[in-house]
Amino acid sequence: MTEPTTPPVPTTDVLIVGAGPAGLALACALADAGLRCQVLEQAPLAALEAPAEDGRDIALTHRARRILTRLGLWERLPTDEIAPLKTAQVTNGDSPFVLPFSGRADGHAQLGWLVPNHRIRQACYAGAVARTAAVTLTGDAQVTALSHDAQGAQVTLADGRVLRAPLVVAADSRFSTLRRLAGIGARMLDFGRTAIVCRMQHSLPHDGTAHECFLHGHTLAMLPMAGQQSSAVWTVTSDGAAELMALPEADFAARVDEAFGHRLGTLSPAGERHSYPLVAVYAERFFAPRFVLVGDAAVGMHPVTAHGYNFGLYGVEVLARELAQAHAEGRDLGATPPLARYAEEHRRVTLPIYLGTNTVVKLFTNDSRPAKLAREAIVRATNWLPPVQRAITRQLTGDTTQPLWQALLPPLPPLPPVPGWATRWATRRSA
Ligand SMILES: Cc1cc2nc3c(=O)[nH]c(=O)nc-3n(C[C@H](O)[C@H](O)[C@H](O)COP(=O)(O)OP(=O)(O)OC[C@H]3O[C@@H](n4cnc5c(N)ncnc54)[C@H](O)[C@@H]3O)c2cc1C
Repeated sequence: MTEPTTPPVPTTDVLIVGAGPAGLALACALADAGLRCQVLEQAPLAALEAPAEDGRDIALTHRARRILTRLGLWERLPTDEIAPLKTAQVTNGDSPFVLPFSGRADGHAQLGWLVPNHRIRQACYAGAVARTAAVTLTGDAQVTALSHDAQGAQVTLADGRVLRAPLVVAADSRFSTLRRLAGIGARMLDFGRTAIVCRMQHSLPHDGTAHECFLHGHTLAMLPMAGQQSSAVWTVTSDGAAELMALPEADFAARVDEAFGHRLGTLSPAGERHSYPLVAVYAERFFAPRFVLVGDAAVGMHPVTAHGYNFGLYGVEVLARELAQAHAEGRDLGATPPLARYAEEHRRVTLPIYLGTNTVVKLFTNDSRPAKLAREAIVRATNWLPPVQRAITRQLTGDTTQPLWQALLPPLPPLPPVPGWATRWATRRSA
């Protein structure tokens, strides 16, 4: 009979799996709250220190900027690569109607900012390294197993090492292995489409305007970047992606130029092409005993409404606040109450926008006649209804945590107090 092995002694408060921009931002936030954490990343640390350009340009909201600033990460972004996103215009096929959005509708000079993803990753990594007394970064550490008991949670790495802490956080992408190991399912929506992203140089200025063009069978977004450049995000059915990826540079630029109607003058490629198959993911639960999900592992968005990493940061802010409070009160970090409060708030903020985004994507990529008529009606109606436009703008700037439908309704009177018998009945039923 083999002797039962003693579990390793925890050397940290929180184990974070995944050193993407969500995992690293969380490490910074926890360190600032006085907690120790260890970040486990399957890639080598050298790849995190100088991440390769990946073609993703991330639109950040005002709230996301405030979070990054509080963590000292915004100041680590190269200023000449931050581009203000002043206005956005949505067009529907050949319709002459344009749906405009401006930060001014929400009292801001701009809707948000665009920053290359690899610069965000680099800034988050540098921020975590600067907190070296509280944050341990471990590269070449692929987590392959997860377990927990009454005292703590435990992960096993591919090389056999075992690590333990009161709480494990999964920040390991939308296709999270840890989520599956924790027995948490996820709703996945494969759009059968691929986003091809490429930086383009153009001869006319973009004036800080983003364009989202819903064309027949495909969509094209042109996002204003620093200088006279835009990030082209061309979403096509996945069976057509390989052909576009294989085109010679000049031919690809000519195709984008033609699809965009030459509105920015002559286009030429200013970066490599990258492709991302589009799958939206929403976890069935955001926590399990001694385990919690953040970033894309919790909510993986379709990029059309530019919410993915913004949601990641909102979640980091809320989870860090809850864990900081538990820590300050000397409570168990893996206990249910703080994780449940985070999960509830994160679901309330993200679920309506997740469902709304998927509905918009389905409607605006459906080329049946009724769908075309419906979206033309939506574009026109939104144009004529400033409160709707304002409510959408507030979602884009990130200055509200209210769902869109709530922002559109007049404020409701407070509900009367729940009678004592109802609370007792509900408690008996859930016991
Ligand atoms: C084309 C495109 C455009 C986008 N535009 C926007 C936008 O405008 N605005 C916006 O807010 N968001 C946008 N997003 C979304 C944004 O890029 C993501 O939300 C964000 O990068 C997710 O970060 P993350 O840290 O959660 O996950 P990831 O960046 O996926 O990082 C996960 C990390 O976990 C590591 N890992 C995985 N498994 C393991 C394991 N078993 N053990 C150890 N490590 C592991 C991985 O190596 C990786 O480093 C866009 C996405 C795409 C594809």
